[in-house]
Amino acid sequence: MIVTIDGPSGVGKSTVTKLLAARLGFEHLDTGAMYRAVALAGLRAGADLTDRAAVEAVLGGLEVLLPAGRVLLNGDDVTAAVRAPEVSQGASKVAAVPAVRRFLAAQQRATAAGRDMVCEGRDQGTFVFPCAEHKFYLVADPLVRAERRAAELSAKGHHTTAAAQMREQEERDRRDAERDTAPMHPARDALVIDTSLRALDAVVALLESVVRR
Ligand code: C5P
Repeated sequence: MIVTIDGPSGVGKSTVTKLLAARLGFEHLDTGAMYRAVALAGLRAGADLTDRAAVEAVLGGLEVLLPAGRVLLNGDDVTAAVRAPEVSQGASKVAAVPAVRRFLAAQQRATAAGRDMVCEGRDQGTFVFPCAEHKFYLVADPLVRAERRAAELSAKGHHTTAAAQMREQEERDRRDAERDTAPMHPARDALVIDTSLRALDAVVALLESVVRR
Protein backbone atom coordinates (compact mmCIF):
# COMPACT_ATOMS: atom_id res chain seq x y z
CA MET A 1 0.00 0.00 0.00
CA ILE A 2 1.20 3.52 -0.80
CA VAL A 3 0.31 6.48 1.43
CA THR A 4 1.37 9.93 0.18
CA ILE A 5 2.03 13.01 2.31
CA ASP A 6 2.63 16.21 0.37
CA GLY A 7 2.82 19.89 1.28
CA PRO A 8 5.28 22.77 1.64
CA SER A 9 8.25 22.86 4.04
CA GLY A 10 7.69 23.41 7.75
CA VAL A 11 4.26 21.78 7.95
CA GLY A 12 5.65 18.78 9.86
CA LYS A 13 5.74 16.38 6.89
CA SER A 14 8.98 14.58 7.78
CA THR A 15 8.05 14.00 11.42
CA VAL A 16 4.51 12.92 10.55
CA THR A 17 5.76 10.64 7.77
CA LYS A 18 8.27 8.84 9.98
CA LEU A 19 5.86 8.42 12.89
CA LEU A 20 3.00 7.28 10.69
CA ALA A 21 5.21 4.75 8.90
CA ALA A 22 6.41 3.37 12.26
CA ARG A 23 2.85 3.04 13.55
CA LEU A 24 1.68 1.27 10.41
CA GLY A 25 4.79 -0.92 10.13
CA PHE A 26 5.53 0.67 6.71
CA GLU A 27 8.79 1.97 5.22
CA HIS A 28 9.07 5.67 4.38
CA LEU A 29 10.56 7.62 1.50
CA ASP A 30 11.88 11.19 1.82
CA THR A 31 11.75 12.38 -1.78
CA GLY A 32 12.93 15.90 -0.82
CA ALA A 33 16.28 14.34 0.16
CA MET A 34 16.62 13.08 -3.43
CA TYR A 35 16.13 16.59 -4.90
CA ARG A 36 18.57 17.91 -2.32
CA ALA A 37 21.18 15.32 -3.36
CA VAL A 38 20.84 16.35 -7.03
CA ALA A 39 21.24 20.02 -6.02
CA LEU A 40 24.32 19.21 -3.95
CA ALA A 41 25.83 17.31 -6.89
CA GLY A 42 25.20 20.39 -9.07
CA LEU A 43 26.70 22.78 -6.54
CA ARG A 44 29.78 20.57 -6.15
CA ALA A 45 30.18 20.50 -9.93
CA GLY A 46 29.94 24.30 -10.03
CA ALA A 47 26.80 24.15 -12.20
CA ASP A 48 24.36 27.06 -12.51
CA LEU A 49 21.24 25.37 -11.09
CA THR A 50 18.93 27.60 -13.11
CA ASP A 51 20.53 26.39 -16.35
CA ARG A 52 18.58 23.30 -17.53
CA ALA A 53 21.34 21.91 -19.74
CA ALA A 54 23.91 22.26 -16.94
CA VAL A 55 21.61 20.47 -14.48
CA GLU A 56 20.82 17.72 -17.01
CA ALA A 57 24.57 17.15 -17.45
CA VAL A 58 24.85 16.55 -13.68
CA LEU A 59 22.32 13.69 -13.92
CA GLY A 60 24.65 11.55 -16.04
CA GLY A 61 26.26 8.91 -13.84
CA LEU A 62 24.50 10.20 -10.73
CA GLU A 63 23.43 7.68 -8.08
CA VAL A 64 21.27 8.75 -5.14
CA LEU A 65 20.48 6.14 -2.50
CA LEU A 66 18.56 6.50 0.78
CA PRO A 67 19.52 3.53 2.97
CA ALA A 68 18.02 3.63 6.50
CA GLY A 69 17.55 7.38 6.79
CA ARG A 70 20.92 8.26 5.25
CA VAL A 71 21.54 10.03 1.94
CA LEU A 72 24.29 8.65 -0.30
CA LEU A 73 25.46 10.57 -3.35
CA ASN A 74 27.61 8.33 -5.52
CA GLY A 75 28.52 6.41 -2.35
CA ASP A 76 29.43 9.55 -0.36
CA ASP A 77 27.37 10.06 2.86
CA VAL A 78 25.80 13.53 2.43
CA THR A 79 23.04 13.15 5.06
CA ALA A 80 24.06 16.34 6.92
CA ALA A 81 25.32 18.27 3.88
CA VAL A 82 21.95 18.15 2.06
CA ARG A 83 20.29 20.08 4.93
CA ALA A 84 22.35 23.25 4.37
CA PRO A 85 20.21 26.29 3.47
CA GLU A 86 21.89 26.80 0.06
CA VAL A 87 21.00 23.20 -0.79
CA SER A 88 17.33 23.85 0.14
CA GLN A 89 17.21 26.72 -2.35
CA GLY A 90 19.16 24.70 -4.91
CA ALA A 91 16.75 21.76 -4.55
CA SER A 92 13.78 23.89 -5.56
CA LYS A 93 15.76 25.11 -8.61
CA VAL A 94 16.72 21.64 -9.88
CA ALA A 95 13.16 20.48 -9.07
CA ALA A 96 11.90 22.71 -11.90
CA VAL A 97 13.94 20.78 -14.48
CA PRO A 98 11.68 18.15 -16.15
CA ALA A 99 14.56 15.67 -16.69
CA VAL A 100 15.33 15.74 -12.96
CA ARG A 101 11.69 15.08 -12.09
CA ARG A 102 11.50 12.18 -14.56
CA PHE A 103 14.77 10.70 -13.26
CA LEU A 104 13.69 10.87 -9.61
CA ALA A 105 10.04 9.91 -10.16
CA ALA A 106 11.17 6.72 -11.94
CA GLN A 107 13.45 5.92 -9.02
CA GLN A 108 10.69 6.63 -6.49
CA ARG A 109 8.24 4.32 -8.29
CA ALA A 110 10.86 1.56 -8.56
CA THR A 111 11.71 1.92 -4.85
CA ALA A 112 8.07 1.69 -3.74
CA ALA A 113 6.98 -1.08 -6.13
CA GLY A 114 5.33 -3.92 -4.22
CA ARG A 115 6.09 -2.38 -0.80
CA ASP A 116 4.09 -0.74 1.96
CA MET A 117 5.44 2.80 2.03
CA VAL A 118 4.63 6.32 3.23
CA CYS A 119 6.05 8.71 0.61
CA GLU A 120 6.55 12.39 1.39
CA GLY A 121 7.21 15.26 -0.99
CA ARG A 122 5.44 17.81 -3.15
CA ASP A 123 4.08 15.64 -5.99
CA GLN A 124 3.64 12.18 -4.54
CA GLY A 125 -0.15 12.17 -4.66
CA THR A 126 -0.49 14.14 -7.90
CA PHE A 127 2.27 12.92 -10.19
CA VAL A 128 4.33 10.02 -8.84
CA PHE A 129 1.60 7.88 -7.25
CA PRO A 130 -1.73 9.13 -8.64
CA CYS A 131 -3.33 5.80 -7.64
CA ALA A 132 -2.05 5.79 -4.03
CA GLU A 133 -4.58 4.31 -1.61
CA HIS A 134 -4.40 7.29 0.79
CA LYS A 135 -3.31 10.84 0.07
CA PHE A 136 -2.74 13.62 2.55
CA TYR A 137 -1.70 17.24 2.02
CA LEU A 138 -0.46 19.17 5.04
CA VAL A 139 -0.68 22.96 5.30
CA ALA A 140 0.10 25.46 8.09
CA ASP A 141 0.21 29.16 8.77
CA PRO A 142 3.38 30.65 7.14
CA LEU A 143 4.68 32.07 10.44
CA VAL A 144 4.22 28.74 12.25
CA ARG A 145 6.07 27.01 9.40
CA ALA A 146 8.94 29.51 9.49
CA GLU A 147 9.26 29.15 13.27
CA ARG A 148 9.31 25.34 13.01
CA ARG A 149 11.96 25.40 10.28
CA ALA A 150 14.11 27.91 12.22
CA ALA A 151 13.95 25.71 15.35
CA GLU A 152 14.77 22.57 13.33
CA LEU A 153 17.74 24.19 11.58
CA SER A 154 19.07 25.81 14.76
CA ALA A 155 18.98 22.40 16.47
CA LYS A 156 21.21 21.14 13.65
CA GLY A 157 23.67 24.02 14.09
CA HIS A 158 22.51 26.24 11.18
CA HIS A 159 21.96 29.66 12.73
CA THR A 160 18.85 31.33 11.37
CA THR A 161 15.73 33.22 12.40
CA ALA A 162 12.02 32.82 11.73
CA ALA A 163 12.14 36.02 9.64
CA ALA A 164 14.94 34.62 7.44
CA GLN A 165 13.05 31.35 7.08
CA MET A 166 9.90 33.22 6.10
CA ARG A 167 11.74 34.84 3.17
CA GLU A 168 13.40 31.56 2.21
CA GLN A 169 10.14 29.61 2.29
CA GLU A 170 8.24 32.23 0.26
CA GLU A 171 10.83 31.94 -2.48
CA ARG A 172 10.80 28.12 -2.43
CA ASP A 173 6.98 27.90 -2.28
CA ARG A 174 6.70 30.20 -5.26
CA ARG A 175 9.15 28.13 -7.32
CA ASP A 176 7.51 24.85 -6.23
CA ALA A 177 3.95 26.02 -6.96
CA GLU A 178 4.69 27.82 -10.24
CA ARG A 179 6.88 25.31 -12.08
CA ASP A 180 5.41 23.71 -15.21
CA THR A 181 6.13 20.07 -14.36
CA ALA A 182 4.38 18.53 -11.34
CA PRO A 183 3.82 21.79 -9.45
CA MET A 184 3.04 21.59 -5.74
CA HIS A 185 -0.69 21.43 -5.08
CA PRO A 186 -3.06 19.03 -3.33
CA ALA A 187 -4.32 16.07 -5.37
CA ARG A 188 -8.06 16.30 -6.00
CA ASP A 189 -8.60 13.26 -3.77
CA ALA A 190 -6.19 14.30 -1.00
CA LEU A 191 -7.33 15.01 2.54
CA VAL A 192 -5.99 18.50 3.39
CA ILE A 193 -4.99 18.95 7.04
CA ASP A 194 -3.97 22.20 8.72
CA THR A 195 -1.22 21.46 11.26
CA SER A 196 -0.87 25.06 12.60
CA LEU A 197 -2.76 24.42 15.81
CA ARG A 198 -2.43 20.66 16.11
CA ALA A 199 0.32 18.75 17.89
CA LEU A 200 2.09 16.54 15.36
CA ASP A 201 1.19 13.46 17.46
CA ALA A 202 -2.47 14.31 16.99
CA VAL A 203 -1.94 14.69 13.23
CA VAL A 204 -0.29 11.25 13.10
CA ALA A 205 -3.17 9.71 15.08
CA LEU A 206 -5.66 11.27 12.67
CA LEU A 207 -3.84 9.98 9.59
CA GLU A 208 -3.45 6.53 11.13
CA SER A 209 -7.17 6.33 11.85
CA VAL A 210 -7.96 7.27 8.23
CA VAL A 211 -5.59 4.62 6.85
CA ARG A 212 -6.84 1.87 9.18
CA ARG A 213 -10.53 2.70 8.71
O1 C5P B 1 11.00 18.47 1.45
P1 C5P B 1 12.29 19.21 1.26
O2 C5P B 1 12.28 20.57 1.88
O3 C5P B 1 13.47 18.41 1.69
O4 C5P B 1 12.40 19.40 -0.33
C1 C5P B 1 13.41 20.20 -0.91
C2 C5P B 1 12.92 20.72 -2.25
O5 C5P B 1 12.83 19.62 -3.16
C3 C5P B 1 11.53 21.35 -2.26
O6 C5P B 1 11.56 22.74 -1.99
C4 C5P B 1 11.05 21.08 -3.67
O7 C5P B 1 11.50 22.08 -4.56
C5 C5P B 1 11.74 19.80 -4.05
N1 C5P B 1 10.85 18.64 -4.01
C6 C5P B 1 10.02 18.43 -5.09
N2 C5P B 1 9.24 17.31 -5.15
C7 C5P B 1 9.26 16.42 -4.14
C8 C5P B 1 10.08 16.64 -3.02
C9 C5P B 1 10.85 17.79 -2.97
O8 C5P B 1 9.97 19.24 -6.02
N3 C5P B 1 8.52 15.32 -4.24
